[in-house]
Amino acid sequence: MSVLFCPNCERNTAFTTVMRKHDITVRGETFCVSGEADLCKSCGEILWNEKYDGLLARAYEMYKKKHGLLSSGEIREIRTSYNLSQDVFAAILGIGSASLQRYETGAVQTIPYDRLIREAYDAKRLLDLLETNRSRLSEEAYRAAKESIREKTAPCTSSLRRHLIAELQDSPSEFNGLRSFSPDSFQAVIARLLSRLKDAYAPITKLHKLLFYIDFLSFKTRGASVTGLRYVHWPHGPVPGGTLSYDLYDYVSEAGVVRIEEEECEDGNIKRTIELSDGAVADIPDPEERRIIDRVADTLGKLGARELSALSHDEDAYMRTRDKERISYTYAATLKAIR
Ligand SMILES: [Zn+2]
Repeated sequence: MSVLFCPNCERNTAFTTVMRKHDITVRGETFCVSGEADLCKSCGEILWNEKYDGLLARAYEMYKKKHGLLSSGEIREIRTSYNLSQDVFAAILGIGSASLQRYETGAVQTIPYDRLIREAYDAKRLLDLLETNRSRLSEEAYRAAKESIREKTAPCTSSLRRHLIAELQDSPSEFNGLRSFSPDSFQAVIARLLSRLKDAYAPITKLHKLLFYIDFLSFKTRGASVTGLRYVHWPHGPVPGGTLSYDLYDYVSEAGVVRIEEEECEDGNIKRTIELSDGAVADIPDPEERRIIDRVADTLGKLGARELSALSHDEDAYMRTRDKERISYTYAATLKAIR
């Protein structure tokens, strides 16, 4: 005969299975839940097993409903609407991951926690919380979370942005400088870079090279790129995003950060110049990243596109790679133009 532990008798006892209404107490309040349970034959107490857990979970949900607390399902829905894992969502809220997991599987959250989780309905508020609790996340997780939440705040994410994310956002590797591509970082770097140049505009080939030096210098000095962009060996030097480079600049133009001027040259080629828009904001919270961008802008930004092209052709990153090949960031170790 199978036996179960009875918390009342404090020993294993014989039991009977009954289907009826049970009184379950949650935080001093009794709820009537109907369902199957195993009762101790000696004292009649409900035995603690998965049947009891099921009844308890339903009593919890009744308690939550009565007190206007979010249900487990609602909490899970808020989290998954942002595409966030339990660990990351809990870190953003500043609560323990184990607690969140329990709330999502039935346990009753306290009223302050309920208010906190409820705030996450507002994506802008969740972004504020993300900044507050940034130190609880790795840099990579922080960026990914910001991206996910922003996807939801944008009334309709532009197709260009979605396209860039789909094409360029890989997991960290030697080809993106151990950092996943972020359109926001790219946009911020362009804004900061242009704001540091003597003239707040630059031909596109010059920007290509300056971006290359920013990302590779950052990788060399801190072990990670700034933008997460890949660079491809092209005839004029390393090009960010390879065939997607025009899409990148079109994106920052669409975002209102820059204006793109196009001019037809005598040889029939189109010369594209990028100019910083008035009031564009460069949001780069990391002081080290700001320092790297400023150093590249101040030292190499004075040079013209032709000179920069020549410098980049002299780098191992370029000399040791072939046409159309992705350039490994490991070549950053031997940068010559800036150290
Ligand atoms: Zn008993």
